[in-house]
Amino acid sequence: MKTSSPGSLKTDIQDRDLCINCGACTELCPYFKSYKGKIAMIFNCTLGQGKCFAHCPKAEVDLDELSLFFHQKPYDGHPLGHFKSIHVSRAGETMARVLFQNGGTVSSLISCALNNGVIDHAILTDKNGILPEPRLVNTTEDTLHCATSKYLAAPTLGELNKAMQNKLSNIGLVGTPCQMIAAALTRMNPMNQDGFKDPVSLSIGLFCTWALDTRKFMTFISSKMEIRDIKRMDIPPPPAGIAVIEKDREIINIPLEDIRPLILEGCSVCPDMTAEFSDISVGTFEDNPEWNTLIIRTEKGEQLVEDACKKGYLTLSDLPEKSLDHLLSGAGMKKKKAILKAGTEGLMNTLDNSKPAVLRMPESLIKTITK
Ligand SMILES: Cc1cc2nc3c(=O)[nH]c(=O)nc-3n(C[C@H](O)[C@H](O)[C@H](O)COP(=O)(O)OP(=O)(O)OC[C@H]3O[C@@H](n4cnc5c(N)ncnc54)[C@H](O)[C@@H]3O)c2cc1C
Repeated sequence: MKTSSPGSLKTDIQDRDLCINCGACTELCPYFKSYKGKIAMIFNCTLGQGKCFAHCPKAEVDLDELSLFFHQKPYDGHPLGHFKSIHVSRAGETMARVLFQNGGTVSSLISCALNNGVIDHAILTDKNGILPEPRLVNTTEDTLHCATSKYLAAPTLGELNKAMQNKLSNIGLVGTPCQMIAAALTRMNPMNQDGFKDPVSLSIGLFCTWALDTRKFMTFISSKMEIRDIKRMDIPPPPAGIAVIEKDREIINIPLEDIRPLILEGCSVCPDMTAEFSDISVGTFEDNPEWNTLIIRTEKGEQLVEDACKKGYLTLSDLPEKSLDHLLSGAGMKKKKAILKAGTEGLMNTLDNSKPAVLRMPESLIKTITK
């Protein structure tokens, strides 16, 4: 299992522009801080090994080790990861109709889990102006307040570290695939901390192709409008090809080609589109964005979905075969591109200590995935 020093986190991840601001290295010590979309090491740390490196989703992630821990099965390179079943879903009649990103499946499942004692707290991502802001919530009302996607990378995992320091347990966590990888690494207790108890009882992952670099986005958008006037941002599914920015009484469409240069570098070596290391994964149902695509991966996830349907929190339907083909192709393409890129940049399975790998996986799988 990987462990290395906080200094390596700076040289290997931050200085190589691989950091995706997930927050997994923050709120552990006074040294790493997230500020306006960037993580900075504000003092030099001389520890030989640190949780900050061990929990980082861009530092030597061994997908086979992670899969054995999370799914009790080896990593097999399937485009969608290990799963039990796939459906389409949306908020049921018990849920208030507020502005969700898509069908409100994530908010409905978290509300159901909180109201039925499956979890005592949830770590979600709210916003402050246009900046995403992690938030610990305990009620449906606060869960609904955090609804909708924020397309800027969020330091959500810092809130998990804070919760662990405050000895909170039975937590539900919602996050993007890289955040789910960081959470799974944290839950493996890689530093063998005495008395460690897994604080997470439920993980809900979001599909994600990429997130935007906050600083680059702010520079870009401030040349077009006052940032404080932005109310919401949406990236509708293909073939729209636009980002939609909502202001008070105006909607502005920006071509995705203009947005692509603002994507975080670290996203280009992420092989996971559907948050493979979570109990349940949720994305946009591209045929009808008022619904979600829902992947159930674990027994815990299966039980929660069953309960949520029975209690009116969720409505479930079948995923049409052609939509499944489309999903497989999108997720497979992201995996292939990321693995090819990591390979060409010397970031896959390298043994050179001066240039550590981002990812590790069996060589035979690399051939299958990239053929
Ligand atoms: C950066 C990003 C990229 C995405 N890319 C895709 C994609 O390519 N394809 C696709 O199908 N779906 C994508 N999604 C997921 C999609 O936008 C919806 O989140 C998902 O369909 C759930 O919809 P919902 O109506 O159930 O969510 P809601 O009920 O509205 O809840 C949304 C939840 O997302 C959480 N959240 C919001 N922003 C963030 C963030 N930045 N980091 C962590 N958590 C956050 C909130 O805590 C909230 O609980 C992306 C989401 C994000 C945040």
